[in-house]
Amino acid sequence: MGRMRPQSRTGRAQPPWRLSARTLVTCSIFTIIGFSAICASVMIDLRRGEEVRARQSLENLAAGIGADISRNIELYDLSLRAVAGNMLLPEIRDVSKPVRHLILFDRTSARNFGAIQVFDAKGRLAIDSTTLDPSPEDRSDADFFQVHRDSPDGGLYVGRPAQHRGHDSIVLSRRISTPDGHFAGVVAGSIRLSYFRDLFGRLTLGTGDSLTVFRRDGTVIVSAPFDPTAIGRNLARAPAVTRALTEPTGWSSSYGALDDLPRLLVWRSGTEPLVVVASRTWDSVYAVWRSEAAQIGAMMLALIVFVLAATQVAAREIQLRSKVESRLEQLATTDPLTGLKNRRKFDETIESEWRRAQRTQAPLGLLMIDADHFKSYNDTHGHQAGDQVLVGIAVCISDSVRRAGDCAARYGGEEFAVLLPGSSDTAALHVAETIRCKVAIWAGETSSTSISIGVASVTPTRDTDWSSLLSAADKALYAAKAAGRNRSVGVAVPKPSAAAALAA
Ligand code: GH3
Ligand code: MG
Ligand code: MG
Repeated sequence: MGRMRPQSRTGRAQPPWRLSARTLVTCSIFTIIGFSAICASVMIDLRRGEEVRARQSLENLAAGIGADISRNIELYDLSLRAVAGNMLLPEIRDVSKPVRHLILFDRTSARNFGAIQVFDAKGRLAIDSTTLDPSPEDRSDADFFQVHRDSPDGGLYVGRPAQHRGHDSIVLSRRISTPDGHFAGVVAGSIRLSYFRDLFGRLTLGTGDSLTVFRRDGTVIVSAPFDPTAIGRNLARAPAVTRALTEPTGWSSSYGALDDLPRLLVWRSGTEPLVVVASRTWDSVYAVWRSEAAQIGAMMLALIVFVLAATQVAAREIQLRSKVESRLEQLATTDPLTGLKNRRKFDETIESEWRRAQRTQAPLGLLMIDADHFKSYNDTHGHQAGDQVLVGIAVCISDSVRRAGDCAARYGGEEFAVLLPGSSDTAALHVAETIRCKVAIWAGETSSTSISIGVASVTPTRDTDWSSLLSAADKALYAAKAAGRNRSVGVAVPKPSAAAALAA
């Protein structure tokens, strides 16, 4: 019986790394998550940028408007101060009315500014910049008069918006005090609301933008877009307005006090008598960003759908291929008649198990099984019946060899080999007898077949190969045949060193 030479100890080359369907899906999901995270972070940055830009432009708007209003109020206040100061000159009573007018009012001539009037300590109109002989007028009940009368340090007083001489205006006034601090009257002037409307008219406000000028007590003086119903309303209770009236500059996100829309509000007040609040609805702050985000989001979504679809197709393809490959692998390693492993698989397994046994220093058992007088069985019953017997023997073998790692193979013709990792010669002999008895019982019922088994087991040392184990099992098989067949025979495997000495 010709035995195959053991395979080279280099063993089979490791299969190249293969991409599994699960790895592909995991990679795709991570890629999608990564791209989505980058995209989201970019979109958040853009959104923040829009917010900062809106805030800056509102700050500039509020600062520009605030500066214009302050400058004009300051100029007008200068005139009021001049009148208040000059009214105390003793000579002012002695000069004629025209000269007094020239002394007091030479600096007041702006378009949106009303007449300057001087009221005496009783609230009666004493002097009017528009006429030398004003008609009698008593303003002792006016709030500006009472404020100045009751508080010596009132400074410039800005009144609530009201009709003043036929125009919507705010009254600006100062107290006239004698050098010893006594109340000597009030000098009052007015700024028409048309001044603010002209000022706002020069601006191009975007959609959702609004500007409101407040008095220090939270009363709306004017707003843009122009809303006549808002004039005179006190909004001091609205949280953003409360902050704007107390903090010199700042911003907040709040609902608009006039339209109740979510807004970004920015204010500039400093120490001025009026506070300017510029605001923009969040809708218009994010309008551009929203459309960009929608575009990028849609593209991202399309990309994700594409990647997922491509991944699904590729994963299915990989699964299909791996199924085909494992089927091919199974076909390539299985004996078609008996369903046991074939010779090729057996050679691979004994190579790798030998190396493992070398590493772990565990015994490796081997059974060589041969059908007795099989040629004559064939001759008598025919090849097909012979094949059935081979299948029967294979079933008996695989019924008896169940441990993971055991390898039962058809070695060739009517010969079988069983590799038993971790089995000593006694354990291997026990398995051999189990197989033999099973065949005997089965054959007793169906045919007169028997098998002979050669058993060997060895604990491999370094620098040896499995040929010694194979030839030992082979020898044992010959011994079983020689001893009359239908038996299992174990043969001690010579130590590799002893074998080398014998060979020498
Ligand atoms: P021994 O007891 O000494 O083993 O005698 P034997 O007749 O079994 O041994 P021999 O080597 O002389 O003959 C082996 C026979 O096995 C020859 C061949 O016809 C038969 N054989 C080999 N492979 C197959 C097979 O696949 N199917 C069948 N039916 N017979 C086979
Ligand atoms: Mg044979
Ligand atoms: Mg035989």
